[in-house]
Amino acid sequence: MTAADNARISALASNRLIHKAFAWLHLHEPQIRRWQLEAINIPAPPFKEHLRAAYFLQQFQQLGLTNPHIDPEGNVLAELPGADTNTPIILLSAHLDTVFPAGTDCTPRLEESVIYAPGACDNAAGLAALLALAAALKHANITPTCTILFAANVGEEGEGDLRGMRHLFNQKSPYSTRIKAAIAFEGSGTETVVDRALGSRRLRVTVTGPGGHSWADAGRPNPILALSAALLAISRIPLPRNPRTTLNVGTISGGTSVNSIPPSATADLDLRSTSAAQLDRVELAILKTLQSTIDNDLHLHATRIGDRLPGILPEASQLHRSLRAVDRHLRLATDSRIGSTDANLPLSLGIPALAIGAGGTGGGMHTLGEWYDPTGRDLALRRTLLLLLDTCTLATE
Ligand SMILES: [Zn+2]
Repeated sequence: MTAADNARISALASNRLIHKAFAWLHLHEPQIRRWQLEAINIPAPPFKEHLRAAYFLQQFQQLGLTNPHIDPEGNVLAELPGADTNTPIILLSAHLDTVFPAGTDCTPRLEESVIYAPGACDNAAGLAALLALAAALKHANITPTCTILFAANVGEEGEGDLRGMRHLFNQKSPYSTRIKAAIAFEGSGTETVVDRALGSRRLRVTVTGPGGHSWADAGRPNPILALSAALLAISRIPLPRNPRTTLNVGTISGGTSVNSIPPSATADLDLRSTSAAQLDRVELAILKTLQSTIDNDLHLHATRIGDRLPGILPEASQLHRSLRAVDRHLRLATDSRIGSTDANLPLSLGIPALAIGAGGTGGGMHTLGEWYDPTGRDLALRRTLLLLLDTCTLATE
């Protein structure tokens, strides 16, 4: 952060139109909360975000954003056009999907300001913030120096494997070459920023065999036992502390009945690291261990069901410097974190990106006890508004 960064942010924050946008954010917490509750009430399990997507398309239309539409992957997109048509694009996004399967009761329970509901924080808080920023910018009649692309995107969680972001940054996407920086709202927090992308690789391992009757066919190879033994061996693969690398066996399934030799057994593994080389090394070790522990009379099948590359937003990057200047202006401590978010994808492509808290506080993420308290949320929204507009200014220079 330099004196020039600080001066630019001070000038931006004293702009009359920005004040108007700040005032909108400050006065419209009830509206922002309503959007959040409406989003929570529309289930959005992985790969089934379409109902919540339809709601966001409607909101983007009502806010008067330009070119609201749903792309072929299911992302809801709309623009706030910049000063001229060929300007670069800054992406502001929040993911639509939750980790909760279809049928989960997501009805919010309210206790004073706190909202209890699966997905209340991750990422209904982010989605509400996305609409709030669009509304504030429209209300203040701000024409940014570059185009802001609003995205309520699909596929951030688990097996979604960033499919929404992948689509947006795919060569065939009309936006991919124009996006110069990306900011993703993720969960709660006023000082948080995820500026380092944790890499992850997910594997599905299936062992199959002839199966049979537990008495009549006794002695045939048993895929559940073979897989269990292999997983135990995998759990002994040494993992470095630095760069921190973790391995989890998350689910295991298989078998037909207590009196059948199972025809198959499957386990899902989640490998994480800040280092791409460690992801490669441990994945290879897992595959070797599987091959050496599973008997030849059983069939082994291992596939990747997820792959997120690690990445880092350099401290010296303009996006990072802008954020620190904004935080200095707002007297916030920049709480830099590592995480696996939608920002992984642009970061892995070398495009400046970060994930930012949508304000308030929250907890119990990815559990049925998830909660969100919006108290003080507008400070985080002002923070992101300043960062977004400053990033726009710099992208056109
Ligand atoms: Zn999330």
